Amino acid sequence: MLTNIKYAPLQDLSVSNRCEPLKEQTIDFCERVVRPHSAQVRTAAKMPSQLLDSLKSTGWLGMLIEKQYGGLGLDCLHRVMNVEYLARECPDLGAILQIAQLGTGSIIEFGSEAQKRAWLPSLASGERICTIAITEEHSGSHVLGMSTTYEHRKGGVILNGEKWFIGNCGISNLHVVYARAKDERQISGFIVDGNQSGIDNSEPHNQTGLKSFPLGKLKLNNVFVPEENILGTLGDGLRMAYYVIGHHGRPSLTGLALGIHHRILDLAYTFAMERQLYGKPISDLPDVRSKLFEIYTQYEQSRHVAYEAAHKMSIGDNAYRPLSLAKYLSGEYACRSATSASEVFGARAGLQEFEIAQLSLDAMMTRPPSGTGDVQKKRIMDDIFSPKHHQVQDNTLQRGAA
Ligand SMILES: Cc1cc2nc3c(=O)[nH]c(=O)nc-3n(C[C@H](O)[C@H](O)[C@H](O)COP(=O)(O)OP(=O)(O)OC[C@H]3O[C@@H](n4cnc5c(N)ncnc54)[C@H](O)[C@@H]3O)c2cc1C
Repeated sequence: MLTNIKYAPLQDLSVSNRCEPLKEQTIDFCERVVRPHSAQVRTAAKMPSQLLDSLKSTGWLGMLIEKQYGGLGLDCLHRVMNVEYLARECPDLGAILQIAQLGTGSIIEFGSEAQKRAWLPSLASGERICTIAITEEHSGSHVLGMSTTYEHRKGGVILNGEKWFIGNCGISNLHVVYARAKDERQISGFIVDGNQSGIDNSEPHNQTGLKSFPLGKLKLNNVFVPEENILGTLGDGLRMAYYVIGHHGRPSLTGLALGIHHRILDLAYTFAMERQLYGKPISDLPDVRSKLFEIYTQYEQSRHVAYEAAHKMSIGDNAYRPLSLAKYLSGEYACRSATSASEVFGARAGLQEFEIAQLSLDAMMTRPPSGTGDVQKKRIMDDIFSPKHHQVQDNTLQRGAA
């Protein structure tokens, strides 16, 4: 992979200068540790356990966890750049890193002091990997439509239901599960120890994009959750879920989409400079240049919006709309650039070793989580035209920023 050719991103934005050391560390880790496994990850549809162990040893799974709980205590912008540069080398590993921070984010934001002390150190070290379990077969975007239930029992609750499309499912041993009270609408969040009986996280989805990313079903059959593992206040789950989706999910997904986009950019420019036709590289052809221009400008636009949004979040500004916009643009533009790149590669776009078809599927997978493109548009427009609609998020944001 060429990293110093002229298309390389414009000089980093001033807001991101403070993240340079982490960016350099991430690039170094990718070159030394990840690259030897990259081809295997792309073709085998399974993440090598050795690579997962190496990721755990970086401490990046605890990026946002405060130092007092064993984490790195870094902010949202660090997270976006870290995920981007890891995903640029290996999208599937980037996906594992980004999704791990959502369940963890729920505990950081809403956990009691005792819960933080109980769970965050093992999440920071990678001893535990936590999922966030919201989606179900019949309630994707419609979070309130979920049918996983909790019922009160002596000393806690029992959970029953089935969650779909749960990231890191097969490699996790802790879950933040959102469920509704039986026969009521109110939703609550629960920290569920993966070793508890009645949990089955073994069924994968066999997706075509991000093939080595463990995406699967989480089945809960009379799973007992003790009172001390209720997250926040009972009945406050919708607000908590929206906050975590908006302020942890969207920036993480943005980093993932940027990383995939960055790889498409790298590969397209390298290919166009190497492929010779008419006795010269195809990068000399105006139409090919036009495609390369589209990829470059789309990447730069996504990156600027993403870093700015993550910076706002890092300094405690209201970042709800910028993060939604960043999530929307990064996924949308990564998909468009994959299409442009497929033109540049001609028939080779479909050959496994050129990666473009796979990256196109990978980019597609970044769009549904934390809100599909259309849901993102709706959220942004609602925020502009009827901000009261977002009282749930705004109240939480004030609380979170306090
Ligand atoms: C890679 C990946 C990782 C994921 N990880 C997790 C995870 O860790 N935990 C988890 O809980 N879930 C996870 N998900 C699931 C993800 O959150 C859902 O895919 C997402 O919420 C959309 O739900 P759906 O796929 O069922 O689509 P649907 O909600 O069925 O949407 C179908 C279509 O209807 C449109 N639509 C729906 N509602 C509206 C609306 N109100 N306005 C306009 N259009 C609308 C959508 O835009 C879309 O075009 C993951 C998904 C993927 C692909």
